[in-house]
Amino acid sequence: AQHFLARIRAQQDLAAFLTIDEDATLAQARAQDDALAAGNAGPLAGVPIAHKDVFVTQDFATTAASRMLAGYRSPFDATIVANLAQAGCVTLGKLSCDEFAMGGDNESAAIAAVGLDAPQPVRNPWDRARVPGGSSGGSAAAVAAGLAPGATASDTGGSIRQPAALCGITGIKPTYGRASRYGMIAYASSLDQAGVMARSAEDCALLLSHLCGPDIERDSTSVDMPAEDFSRQLTGSIDGLRIGVPREFFGDGLAGDVRAAIEGALKEYEKLGAKLVDISLPRTDLAVPVYYIISPAEASSNLARFDGVRYGHRAAQYADLLDMYKKSRSEAFGEEVKRRIMIGTYVLSEGYYDAYYLQAQRLRRMIADDFQQAFTQCDVIAGPVSPSVAWSIGAKTDPLATYLADIYTLPASLAGLPAMSVPAGFGSAGLPVGLQLIANHFGEARLLNAAHRLQ
Ligand code: GLN
Repeated sequence: AQHFLARIRAQQDLAAFLTIDEDATLAQARAQDDALAAGNAGPLAGVPIAHKDVFVTQDFATTAASRMLAGYRSPFDATIVANLAQAGCVTLGKLSCDEFAMGGDNESAAIAAVGLDAPQPVRNPWDRARVPGGSSGGSAAAVAAGLAPGATASDTGGSIRQPAALCGITGIKPTYGRASRYGMIAYASSLDQAGVMARSAEDCALLLSHLCGPDIERDSTSVDMPAEDFSRQLTGSIDGLRIGVPREFFGDGLAGDVRAAIEGALKEYEKLGAKLVDISLPRTDLAVPVYYIISPAEASSNLARFDGVRYGHRAAQYADLLDMYKKSRSEAFGEEVKRRIMIGTYVLSEGYYDAYYLQAQRLRRMIADDFQQAFTQCDVIAGPVSPSVAWSIGAKTDPLATYLADIYTLPASLAGLPAMSVPAGFGSAGLPVGLQLIANHFGEARLLNAAHRLQ
């Protein structure tokens, strides 16, 4: 823990950490030393990790990188935080992200990172002038720069896979319902999933085995399935594995350097004994509009709880109750969060609900059905994570441009499927490219094994 705390302090310019507290970390580490001495240590005793700042923690403030929650201290730990602590993990601190996990470049973080006086986007350790991706940019940058051997993150529409890809590390989002959402600050509840990032599939398997598990009393969408030991299932054999390659993932929007790296990885799989199968996910181009209706709709409802009464920021001066809501929310939410609340309330409003929200729900089902069709022909699906390598900070000024870059990660999210990003070589300017692997529900072990084989 001391080693990583020193690295975190030495690389504050990355803006990866929003909170550290050396005393809290070392107290947790000492408790693990005691457990080891007493012979009752967990399997991950003393492994230092860091948590995305959307998972509430008792020992550290939790802000979701929003002014709304500046300094907020939870009275309890999120289930996934508690699960990992139970296994022996020690918390190094809390990681930056886009405000309320809404974004794909970490530029909307509104809380100043450790050692900096103003909010700043997290920097990509491969090139500090570029974004690390988002929304879990802090998690990806911290792991890539060796500030933590592993980190938690959340993925609603790609927030684990895309930053993992742009920072050249491994990240996995499990099947919707496998990881508890209790204590995870909600963005879009029907899509939100917790997962992990690490240097390798092997490390991801270790962490994910302990992060997942049923929590049916506290999360109504938690799946009642026993935790699985993913590490045990890393046999390394992919003989005869059928890898589906969706045509629609290789269209005009895909940058040539990324395409070349992905095709290289697919060839490698063929050499290792897998079989490539041409498949179609015909509604891929609908994933962006469908997601950007459903997720803001859910966000507008979830974020209604931030009213200045129960949690978070309250305006200093106001005329009456309504004015207090209005001023508190206007002052504390950032631009992107406000944009999504407005889109969400619009698509849910009378007269528009049928035309937008209901229609999006129907298409979501069709997108999920397309995957089921595809999985009759293949065991896993492979393609790019991001249409390009990491872009320069400030380069995407139109929010739509960032939304469009989510095209390859959104389909699996809408279908609730497990998906991951595995390093697949390098594109232009020596920047990392991530290969996306998607499996059918509860196929995490198969995904991790396929990723492990490539490493
Ligand atoms: N980039 C997507 C969005 O902005 C995904 C975010 C996420 O997965 N949390 O909503």
